[in-house]
Parts: sequence; structure tokens; C-alpha cells
Amino acid sequence: TDLTTDVLVVGAGGAGLAAAIEASDAGKDVIVIEKMPMAGGNTLRATGGLNAAGTSSQEALDIEDDASIHYEDTMTGGYELNDPELLEILTSQAAPAVEWLIELGADLSDVGRLGGSSNNRTHRPTGGAPVGGHLVQVLQEASQERGVEILLNTTAVELLIEDDAVNGVLVEAENGETYSIFADAVILATGGFGANATMIADLDEGLEGFGTTNHPGATGEGITMAQEIGAALVDMVEIQTHPTVVPEIGYMITEAVRGNGAILINRSGERFVDEMGTRDVVSAATLEQEGQTGFLFFDEDVRESLSAIEGYIERDLVIEAESLEELAEKMEMDIDVLQATVDSYNEAVASGSDEAFGRSDMPTGLESPSFYLIEVGPAVHHTMGGLHISANAEVLNEDGEAIPGLFAAGEITGGIHGGNRLGGNALTDLIVFGRIAGQSAAQ
Ligand code: ADP
Repeated sequence: TDLTTDVLVVGAGGAGLAAAIEASDAGKDVIVIEKMPMAGGNTLRATGGLNAAGTSSQEALDIEDDASIHYEDTMTGGYELNDPELLEILTSQAAPAVEWLIELGADLSDVGRLGGSSNNRTHRPTGGAPVGGHLVQVLQEASQERGVEILLNTTAVELLIEDDAVNGVLVEAENGETYSIFADAVILATGGFGANATMIADLDEGLEGFGTTNHPGATGEGITMAQEIGAALVDMVEIQTHPTVVPEIGYMITEAVRGNGAILINRSGERFVDEMGTRDVVSAATLEQEGQTGFLFFDEDVRESLSAIEGYIERDLVIEAESLEELAEKMEMDIDVLQATVDSYNEAVASGSDEAFGRSDMPTGLESPSFYLIEVGPAVHHTMGGLHISANAEVLNEDGEAIPGLFAAGEITGGIHGGNRLGGNALTDLIVFGRIAGQSAAQ
């Protein structure tokens, strides 16, 4: 049977749950539908953290930062293709988003750095635990406390329209039956299309055959559904690969491994890139190495700084040796080359200047045994393009006018990250624009 509610959210990832909480706090009845058997989407897989400048967590760690620097870093990292109005909102609302999450019970007290950021502003739980799972749990609990209904195994198949306004969604239940959910406002928060290999290869043939870090539900039909009723798309060809993904199994190694001090070396034992460069640059450099992969190299201190690494060791993804000699032997690398690479990196750390590759953030030398390697290469990670939205998260048509009743937030939208998304800015995007979409839809 058909259902009716005030606000209907499609997709129970970070953006959808944040929107649901805000709409509920504005006094609305909210239903969230989710096609997978569980909530979380790609948000659940987020490992890096959430970028924000000017937060209480930064202040507690004596980190000076400002939203305007976050803006500049993001604009530079995105090759200036970013929508300036949306980016201004992203960066100015990032700190309030962190405080909002802390208020809901999140732990974002550890602050590190990912590629392309000029300050430590990537917020995550203390101990470096994966941030995505933590945030999804906090958001799900907050939704439940507010009486938000989350219908799992329920897929949106078509947007319903009456008098030129969106007034609901046709959904398919687990048993294959379809019914309608009517609502005053619909928020599309279905995520990106990184797991839709056909759509990816059609847009960028260079990515044909690439693996993906995305969850299987990231297939982009929210974008198609909106396009069918006249929504405009932006930046669809801007697709990001993540440089450190374990080949064959598509398992992503968090950028925080490099952020906490790891370097990348090739099969010969040489460095080949500024490891803290943007994802597109590190990916391209890796593809030029023998075997089109590289190896994250780090020592015991880095291992101990990041609990995520224990998970990689348990999964058997890490090659371990008690000395550089043993490591070189295991990898059939020339020990002199490996030793020279490590020595010269350690000298760069000591002098504070990386003459070879210009890495600016080198938190620690790599000299405490044991030593570790993880083989990594690029895989499809984030789709920067998507629905064109206004500052209020309204979905816009080709003439730049809002489609009544339709809102969107999160990876389904385009324009915010320009030509390349900085690590840590996806979670910011989801929470900032998810909240805005929820507030707008409640008006
Ligand atoms: P974001 O990061 O933007 O929040 P996520 O990938 O975390 O995006 O979450 C998007 C969620 O939307 C996923 O859980 C996905 O399974 C769900 N989803 C995608 N398409 C549909 C659909 N057609 N109907 C219902 N849920 C959908």
C-alpha cells in the first residue's frame, strides 16, 4: 500500500541520514528508503576523516586554521573547476557541522592531514579508527531517537510529479512489488556511480576495466531518475581514482597511512612521487611504475600511530620484515637502492626539505623496525559530477531554476569538488549539504 509523509529521503548514507535528522528536528515526519539491506553506503567505507577548519577539536590541539585556507586548498586541488558559491558554503559550514556531529555523540577529537591540505584539519575518532562506520552509527542512532523510519531493501525507481512539482517516489520493495510514497519534498541522497562500470567507461574510456573502492549500490540511478524529469548535470566526466587500493580485491588503504608518515616506493625500491600530492597525481605516477602498482612503505612508529593498520595486518595485506635487508630479500629488491631511498627520505625529514619530490608534510622518519609494505594501485573512488544544486540544495533544471519539491545532497551532486576531490572533503560535503537539504525540504 502507498505511504504518505512530509519529507522522503532516498538513500541512507551520510547525506541522507543528516538530512533526515534536520528535517525531523524542523518538526517534519520523515521516511528514509534504502535499497541495500543495510544503511551506510559509501559513507560506511570512509576511512580518512572529515575536513573542517576552526573547530573545537583543532583548538584543543593548538592547530591554527581558517575556512578561507580550506577554501583555497580545495579550489587548488579541484583545478579551480569548483563552484565558488557551493565551495564557500562547504568550507564555512564545515566547523558547525563538526560541532553538530559532536553534539550528536561523535568522537572527532583526532585531527590529521590528507593530501592537498595545508593544515591538519581531517577529523576522526581518537586512535585513528575508521571514521565512516562511526559516523553512520551516530547518525543512525540519532535518526532512530527522532522516530525517523528507515525502510531497508526499498529501491526508488521513479520520481512522481504532479503540477510540475515532485510529490513522491515510486519504490520497489524486496518482494518486487511496487508502491508509491507521497511526500511534500523528496531529497535524493543516493550517492555516486563509482560502482557502475558501464557508466564510468562511457564517460572516461581510460577507466575501462578499472576496479572500484565503492560499495555495490553506488550505481548512479538517482542521477538518471532526476535527469529524466529535467535535472541538469554538471562535471560528469570528473571521476577520481584513489591511488592506494589493494589490486584484485579493491580494498582501499586509507590515505592516513601516508598522512601519518608512509612513503610510496616501486618494485626497484625507489620513491616516485610526492606521496601527499593530490589523488589524481599520485594515481598517474603509480600507473607509470612497473606492474602499475606501488608499495606503501612504513615503520613500526607509523604502524603504532594508526589502528587501521592492525586491520590490514589481520587481513594479510601487509608484508612485514624485521630489517631492511630482510624486506629487500623478500621483495627481490636491491638492498642498496632500498637503503638509499630510506636514508635520503630520513635526511629530508631531518632537514625539513624533500628535495627529491617536494613533500611538505613529513611527520616522522622511517627508522624503527619492523618495516612494512602494502602493494597498492589506483581504482575508481569518487564521482565528482552529478546533479546541479543551488545553495539551498534545490535540484536545478537546465535553465538554472529549482525543480519544486526536489532536493539533493552528497555524492549525487556535482560541482563542489571541481576536477578532483581532496581526501576528507567528502564527509564534509555529505554532512554540510545533507543538513542544508533537510532544512530546505522542511520549509
Ligand atoms: P553519500 O555519501 O552521498 O551519503 P552514500 O553512498 O554514502 O552517499 O549513500 C547513498 C545510499 O543511497 C547508499 O546506501 C545506496 O545504497 C542508496 N541508494 C542508491 N540508489 C538508491 C535507490 N535507487 N533507492 C534507494 N536507495 C538508494
